[in-house]
Amino acid sequence: MDKIICVGKNYLEHAKELGDKIPEKPVLFLKPPSVLKQAQKNGETIQALLPAGQGSVHHECEIVVQLKGGGYRLDAARAKEAIGAVTLGLDMTLRDLQATLKKNGHPWTTAKVFPDSALIGPWQSVETFPKYSDEVFSFSIDGEKKQAASARDMMMGIPECIAFISEHFPLCPGDVLFTGTPKGVGPVSNGQRGELKYGPIHYYVSWAHSS
Ligand code: ZN
Repeated sequence: MDKIICVGKNYLEHAKELGDKIPEKPVLFLKPPSVLKQAQKNGETIQALLPAGQGSVHHECEIVVQLKGGGYRLDAARAKEAIGAVTLGLDMTLRDLQATLKKNGHPWTTAKVFPDSALIGPWQSVETFPKYSDEVFSFSIDGEKKQAASARDMMMGIPECIAFISEHFPLCPGDVLFTGTPKGVGPVSNGQRGELKYGPIHYYVSWAHSS
């Protein structure tokens, strides 16, 4: 894997809940592979670190795509062919820090890149999960549902996102793409347990402050 690419503001209702202007095109940012943690099997629990003393840490539950193809300036057909597998993930975000960075016109890097800030489930090949675009995914904390949506609610669909990103920089086989979060983002606290469900994909995350 060369990089993790994240799409911001790809669901209308989420952009509204953050009080953001609705962008014509989604926002893009990167995370390094070193902040990624994956549940290898369904039913597994990821033990994730929660940064302490940096304000609120939000969950952003998102469909995540693993690319099997890459390239620069892909057309729509090649962008679709590049989708290898999907899963469900969390783009963890230091929301208070992000708000300060936004206000000052600075990049979001320190609000988006920290240990365990990219959490994902087991990969499911698109051949074995062909309805991944229609399937509703959900995220709950301690049994309470926080986010639920499907790829149908996206402003820019997954193949279009891939084509759009590749207009800016090259994509590589193995790259991981977070496709944006729907409404319902909110804080996660020390000791809480999250549950992620998306078709055949089902796993948990337990958060604890680093000692
Ligand atoms: Zn996100």
